[in-house]
Amino acid sequence: MVKNGWRERVNSMTGSWIDAHCHLADQRLAADIEQVIEHSRHQGVTSWVQGGVGPRDWERQQKLRKRFGKSVLPSFGLHPWWVTNHSEAEIDSALHQLHQLLPSRSSHAVAIGEIGLDLHPKRLRHPNAFTKQLRAFEAELRLAKQVRLPVIIHSVRSDHHILDALTRLGPFPNGGLIHSFSGTVSHGLAFIERGFHLSLSGAQLSSAKRLRSYAELPIDQIVIETDAPDQLPRGWGGGLNEPANLLRIANAWANTWQTTGAMLLDNGRIILEALFALPTIHSPITPNPVSSPDPASHDRKA
Ligand SMILES: [Zn+2]
Repeated sequence: MVKNGWRERVNSMTGSWIDAHCHLADQRLAADIEQVIEHSRHQGVTSWVQGGVGPRDWERQQKLRKRFGKSVLPSFGLHPWWVTNHSEAEIDSALHQLHQLLPSRSSHAVAIGEIGLDLHPKRLRHPNAFTKQLRAFEAELRLAKQVRLPVIIHSVRSDHHILDALTRLGPFPNGGLIHSFSGTVSHGLAFIERGFHLSLSGAQLSSAKRLRSYAELPIDQIVIETDAPDQLPRGWGGGLNEPANLLRIANAWANTWQTTGAMLLDNGRIILEALFALPTIHSPITPNPVSSPDPASHDRKA
């Protein structure tokens, strides 16, 4: 389903793309981080929205921001796996830290995340996993409203519970992203109705059913992420995922809406700039036929 006007709104920025979700502060990337950044820039992916995990990860994100500049877009929150593996007292102390950190401009946080619920049987083996996750998630949703930041949501087998919490505690005027969305079309539309965008990763590319059915999701609500260093698409070799793979992942999703990967990423950039209040990149005036199925559509009004 391509909404009217979408092609007019997007013209080609050919690069300067944003990875909507990755973990540059993950320690598995630490030794090669210079190369990872360089490789990403070489592939046109020049900004990176981070998924926060826990207090140590927030610190590492801040160091990366100092080292690589404004293109590292920090996000602080308690990942549901982190919550599952920590005690109630540790969770409280981390939530307290988050309350101190976020209102400060010097944190440079663009969002609260990644927060949410993960009801994979592996997580539910831990005692009180669901209760702990829900308590932290709701506290972070309240904080997001208080400090007026968007949220980045992790939802595994829990879209129903997440929608329930968003309805109970909403509305969320600053919106957010459902990271690595893998749910049903009707859940996707319910998130969109509540002001959220859907971020698609490479993890779902092996599902022909999703590639087909997601055509019913409005393309102008979709952004693309790598979730690097995780979620390297199946069949893409071993090793770690990198933000440099973003265009390749977008190209693989593009057929779903009969567009191109570059158009998906151009549109994603517009969505993410607005969502995270980022400086706008002005598009080149010259049309680029390579990244558009319809070069005439570049004649947009100024
Ligand atoms: Zn993540």
